[in-house]
Amino acid sequence: MSQDAHHIETLAVHAGRTPDPTTGAVMPPIHLATNYERDATGACPRGFEYTREGNPNRRALETSLALLEGGAAAACFASGNAAAAAVFQALTPAQHVVIAQDTYYGTAVLLKDIFADWSLEATFVDATQPEAIAAAMRTNTALVWVETPSNPLLSVVDLPRAAEIAHAQQAHLLVENTLGTPILQRPFDFGADLVVHSTTKFLGGHSDLLGGVVITKRQDAFFERIRRVQVVGGAVPSPFDCWLLQRSLKTLPCRVRTQSETALKVARFLATHKRVERVLYPGLPEHPGYLTAKRQMSGFGGVLSFTLKEGDAAAKALPARTRIFTHATSIGGVESLIEHRASAEGPGTRAPQNLVRLSIGLEHPDDLIADLAQALGDVPHAEPKPVFPGGRLLRSPKEL
Ligand SMILES: *Cc1c(COP(=O)(O)O)cnc(C)c1O
Repeated sequence: MSQDAHHIETLAVHAGRTPDPTTGAVMPPIHLATNYERDATGACPRGFEYTREGNPNRRALETSLALLEGGAAAACFASGNAAAAAVFQALTPAQHVVIAQDTYYGTAVLLKDIFADWSLEATFVDATQPEAIAAAMRTNTALVWVETPSNPLLSVVDLPRAAEIAHAQQAHLLVENTLGTPILQRPFDFGADLVVHSTTKFLGGHSDLLGGVVITKRQDAFFERIRRVQVVGGAVPSPFDCWLLQRSLKTLPCRVRTQSETALKVARFLATHKRVERVLYPGLPEHPGYLTAKRQMSGFGGVLSFTLKEGDAAAKALPARTRIFTHATSIGGVESLIEHRASAEGPGTRAPQNLVRLSIGLEHPDDLIADLAQALGDVPHAEPKPVFPGGRLLRSPKEL
């Protein structure tokens, strides 16, 4: 039976996994070797020669990720940004990119600070408006890059419309699915040609590995060029990071669904809070992308942002007041995180100064909501932020 026939929970556990033929080990070993022995003819009969070009851990991981996303093949990179850079390097200076203005700020920085000097032209558009994508298309547009939901503004792009517009011009549609994950959003079903993830986030899920991936619907010439950039450019993940990521994928469906359900509860709580101006979460009916998200997602994800009525200073102060949410950057881990996003992004940020971003982990939703309530002053706030002696979570600073 083809592995594609299985449900995603089954794929997450079994894709790319075969018991080690040498030892019978149920879970794969980590192959740290950089080079592989040749046979008498000089060939490498097991398909591996040098680890930059390929190794068993990366091959197994790429097989898993391609199957999980429903694509034909995957190329893994040392970071999400390295994956994005490989896509842009696979284009030529004569080509043009149309890209959503609400993409991850690092993707915009890559285009503006690095690739513009190599004469790769990019037009930034409001991709929530399909007409804006259409208006930016040129005869030499080779790629339309959208991110949905976007980080950190949670804007939603209509994927079938974006695909239609890209394909009318023979351009590829690339969807950054880092917030959606293959569990909640299946871009290939809606016309995407390529999917990119920062695997550092939900796919890794434990805030302990850096990685990125490009997954393709078809093994076409453009993907072959991305593969060349991967193996020749060499921004590849280590065998250990590949192993760790593959381990994380086994729990991806459980983690992401729980994170998404909890995020919706947190969003509903914040939406009714008197100090909150606006909650940016596509799972709320008042979000402008709600209906689109409902059509193309089976859950709305584990990231949300909100703005405070009092403005910048209150938003900057809030992350220091939470007790369960850790004040740190990044998203997608099992531990909840809080961050003043404009400070993290710096000059040129599109995040409003009164915006706070949350990444929802696997803690109990009631504990997370209670933590936000106390941080927002619903109950007297306790200073200082309690620590976790002996790994025990303190409920009140009196327990210190
Ligand atoms: C973090 C992130 C990236 C960059 O990934 P790295 O692994 O940090 O290089 C790209 N896109 C999105 C949506 C992200 O959240």
